[in-house]
Amino acid sequence: MIFVMEPPAQYNFPYKGPVIEHVLPLKDARAMCRKYGAFAHACSWTKDGKCYIVLPVGGPVKQLAPYRRHEMAHCNGWPASHPQF
Ligand SMILES: [Zn+2]
Repeated sequence: MIFVMEPPAQYNFPYKGPVIEHVLPLKDARAMCRKYGAFAHACSWTKDGKCYIVLPVGGPVKQLAPYRRHEMAHCNGWPASHPQF
């Protein structure tokens, strides 16, 4: 079963600033994330109070919402090591 890890409740809410989303074919999403040092299908970073999110189309998980929640949680401060608390 392939799934996107759900963030813990304290990080699982909409980002309070602007969110810039890049929705890209899986290959391009991975390439863009690699540029930012993330070896993953999806990634995110914050800059100047904006949350930047890269989401993959055509990957193992078809829905964008789970990726969006996960990456937005990182913008909200969820550490990359994915603590569940
Ligand atoms: Zn993550």
